[in-house]
Amino acid sequence: MQTIRMDMREKTDPEMIRKAGEILQRGGLVAFPTETVYGLGGNALDEASSAKIYAAKGRPSDNPLIVHIARLEDLALLVTDIPEKALILAQAFWPGPLTMILPKSPIVPDATTGGLKTVAVRMPSHPAALELIQAAGGYVAAPSANTSGRPSPTTAAHVIEDLDGKIDCIIDGGQVGIGLESTIVDLTGETPEILRPGYISKAMLEEVLGKVTVDKGLTSEDEKVRPRAPGMKYRHYAPKAQMTIVEGEEDDVVRTIRELARKDTAAGLKVGIIAAAESAPKYSEGTVREAGTRSDARTIAVHLYALLREFDEMETDRIYSEAFEEGQLGDAIMNRLLKAAGHHVIRAEKM
Ligand code: AMP
Ligand code: MG
Repeated sequence: MQTIRMDMREKTDPEMIRKAGEILQRGGLVAFPTETVYGLGGNALDEASSAKIYAAKGRPSDNPLIVHIARLEDLALLVTDIPEKALILAQAFWPGPLTMILPKSPIVPDATTGGLKTVAVRMPSHPAALELIQAAGGYVAAPSANTSGRPSPTTAAHVIEDLDGKIDCIIDGGQVGIGLESTIVDLTGETPEILRPGYISKAMLEEVLGKVTVDKGLTSEDEKVRPRAPGMKYRHYAPKAQMTIVEGEEDDVVRTIRELARKDTAAGLKVGIIAAAESAPKYSEGTVREAGTRSDARTIAVHLYALLREFDEMETDRIYSEAFEEGQLGDAIMNRLLKAAGHHVIRAEKM
């Protein structure tokens, strides 16, 4: 299949959007930019389109898709109940990087929700995404536009790397704004629960909702306590190299990573280092990449996946990453880093 590339880096083009919308209406697949990562869109109400998404990504079919809408009034068709809390969240954070889990209506095919009785819904804020969803008829199922198991794409080039020739069309909107997937919050229980951390933090949710819990499966060391979002159990976002996160005081972390990099390099291994701008100049061995500055976590989030992809391309054997502070976006950054590293963390010893 020849994948059409539509260039909308400068501005969204209504004629091209109309064409891409038609492709979706006919059951085809279109990758498009959102404010979080690139999505791989198909008609959410069409079982065959969802099946095509799973096939193109090589995604396990028990891992449900997020349905994207462009207008709040379109939510009613997808769900059997819109709790007050969903309206409060929509008012506060839609359009934006927040996905809500709600009880699914019969119109949503099981193929879209991986057989679950609930559906994940989001209204993205990227203008091209909103226009495309409308042009497609209002309901676009879109997981991240990567091959399953690879880091999510934050540029159109990443999408092309993974999916060229496997999908009908790619809308190139340049680099995304946030760089990490949406926050997922489950509203089907008594207390809202975060199933995946993202740009919209626990504190931001609690400010409008009151008490919010976090899925224990995200942080539990116990193998039996699995994450509740089916996708979070996979070793997603994973680079090919063995990855280790080093935490502790900055000087101790730098010294520890330098020591590990020196040993690995001496053993003939290719080493990649992910560091904050503040400490990056302190490394002398391995390929050092600045993720961003510790004073603004957004600069780290937006570069993280591109760095993991770059290290794959360089066929790095070992990756060492500094740990980053938790807190608003920091929780989401550490969640993705931990997954990439298969939860392999060491604590830097003090001198
Ligand atoms: P992606 O769109 O690739 O970022 O992945 C979508 C994420 O949403 C995966 O982790 C899914 O497991 C999760 N998800 C989608 N639908 C549901 C649902 N009904 N209940 C819980 N998690 C969901
Ligand atoms: Mg994904």
